[in-house]
Amino acid sequence: MNRDIKSMDLAQLTQTLAELGEPKFRAKQIYTWLHRGARTFDEMTNLSKPLRQRLSETFDLTPPEVVRKQVSRADGTVKYLWRLSDGNCVETVLMQYHHGNTVCISSEVGCAMGCAFCASTLGGLVRRLTPAEMLDQVLFTQLDSGLPVSNIVLMGIGEPLDNYDNVLRFLRLVNSPEGLNIGMRHISLSTCGLVPRIERLAQENLQLTLSVSLHAPNNKLRSSIMPVNKAYPVETLMAACRQYFETTGRRISFEYAMIRGVNDTPEVAEELAALLQGLAAHVNLIPLNDVAESPLKPSTRAAVEAFQQRLERHGITATVRRTLGSDIDASCGQLRRKYEKEGRPCRHGD
Ligand code: SAH
Repeated sequence: MNRDIKSMDLAQLTQTLAELGEPKFRAKQIYTWLHRGARTFDEMTNLSKPLRQRLSETFDLTPPEVVRKQVSRADGTVKYLWRLSDGNCVETVLMQYHHGNTVCISSEVGCAMGCAFCASTLGGLVRRLTPAEMLDQVLFTQLDSGLPVSNIVLMGIGEPLDNYDNVLRFLRLVNSPEGLNIGMRHISLSTCGLVPRIERLAQENLQLTLSVSLHAPNNKLRSSIMPVNKAYPVETLMAACRQYFETTGRRISFEYAMIRGVNDTPEVAEELAALLQGLAAHVNLIPLNDVAESPLKPSTRAAVEAFQQRLERHGITATVRRTLGSDIDASCGQLRRKYEKEGRPCRHGD
């Protein structure tokens, strides 16, 4: 029997419990407990003691432990480093916006994509997270912080579309009315541009926001900082984005990390404007977060503003992302990396 009870949707859980001779309403009671962040079956006080005992013998409930918690003095952003049941660590960030509290979750331990500016990919991909491990990040961030979460972004460690099936199962869990009931419109998923998976996601026709990490408007530049571009070049990616918009009706948001002297010049802005012309797009300009291991540096404020104005002049809406939590290593994979560099490996036996 599958021991990962928290990754099951209500239908699977109902079926599994029916096999144990339990009625349907029990499955719903258990599902509710799980989605409230119960740490043990013993907390499920409306179940009989023998049933709780049986559940704990049959299934694993392995809530993550907080290894580090950092709270930004500047803006209240909270960053968690969690240790998973196998000893691996991932990060979650909680950001407080006017429109609600947003958690940024990790989808994998490490990342295989190799982007030159990103700390998450430095040690490669270790493994993919289960739906339960993604759900736990939301549940336990909410419980620990006492702040109700209304929005989720899949922009932490990992490439969500590289862990497609588990991510989709996770989305359905958080979206379920008996669970956290977070609407798809309150969820964003960010990808470096795995084209076949974008095409597949379009067919799911979800109302979530797709963010595409573009970072450069031409193949030469993009391939030099994002190896994924060699497999799925800019033209192919843009065609998939157009098709995604046509199928789902959802406007795509493009992430653009501004790297000094690399992708922030007026010429590149012109090229980007031309590329996005006619596409219902929104550009998020993010000054690069400094990663110790990388020679790449953030653009100057003036360069970011000039770039934004040039895009706007061509009718492309672009916002400069407010950087939250920069005093707490809040950018992608930085905290996990730092912890490992301190000689405290996030994996047992390393
Ligand atoms: N793998 C997915 C999601 C995780 S990264 C993706 O590539 O979209 C979330 C966003 O942070 C991506 O846009 C990524 O390119 C960006 N990012 C990574 N490292 C960064 C850094 N040092 N500074 C600014 N943005 C960074």
